[in-house]
Amino acid sequence: MNQDLAGKSAVVTGSTSGIGLGIARALAQAGANVMLNGFGDAAAIETLRHEIARSSRGKVLYSNADMAKPDEIAAMVAQAENVFGAVDILVNNAGIQFVAPVDEFPIAKWDAILAINLSSAFHTIRAALPGMKSRGFGRIVNIASAHGLVASPFKSAYIAAKHGVLGLTKTVALETATLDVTCNAICPGYVRTPLVEGQIAEQAKAHGLPRDKVISDIILAAQPNKRFIEVEEVAGIVLFLCGPAARSITGAALPVDGAWTAR
Ligand code: NAD
Repeated sequence: MNQDLAGKSAVVTGSTSGIGLGIARALAQAGANVMLNGFGDAAAIETLRHEIARSSRGKVLYSNADMAKPDEIAAMVAQAENVFGAVDILVNNAGIQFVAPVDEFPIAKWDAILAINLSSAFHTIRAALPGMKSRGFGRIVNIASAHGLVASPFKSAYIAAKHGVLGLTKTVALETATLDVTCNAICPGYVRTPLVEGQIAEQAKAHGLPRDKVISDIILAAQPNKRFIEVEEVAGIVLFLCGPAARSITGAALPVDGAWTAR
């Protein structure tokens, strides 16, 4: 995707790893200023920031804001607006997972998943949208999941949060429809990232199965293309949504799931 985003500025939550990192790299390579965010080893994140900056024409910053904390989210958006002059592109990607039957689901895990996977998107949008409205341009992309469209057992908090992200996406799209501001959700199936690697390891332990059996018989059981989706595929769709050809796509939930939700 040869999108030119020079002069645009982006915030990508949860971009020190996995899908968010792939999206941040793609936006930076397309010329945008990028605010990285997420957890991890401080020295490793600084190395990553330098590495992405080298491949970019824009600036690359990092915020360690915790997406469970509304005041830190507001400060992150304000910092990006101050340093870059704007937040034109907002990618809500930070997310965590926890798997347990609903009647055994730890309350603290429910609260954390709802905060990080759903409420953080409300808080970033609330902070960034006034600037987008005043400049008359904005691209908001929420990384939901195939689990925003369909359910699986034992993931009650994650699935409730991701369904909620789609509701938020549609509402924001309606509220911004007359402007050149779009708000869409991407709904990936399984993408091989540290989050999914953790699930493979947990399932292998729980069922006493080898990794390849867990991947074929459990993880990819519901995904008809029988392969993991690549981070770059999701990043490419974010770039497309940021470009002029996508200006009438808003309020959409785009499955990127090898036909999982086509059933
Ligand atoms: P990942 O674990 O590799 O990355 C998650 C990122 O979020 C990391 O940068 C982490 O530091 C950050 N993060 C976690 N808690 C945070 C917090 N409180 N504040 C700030 N940052 C925080 O996961 P991933 O697989 O790349 O997932 C990214 C997003 O994509 C998530 O929203 C996930 O639900 C969604 N998703 C993933 C898959 C998949 O198969 N990997 C499929 C569908 C949707």
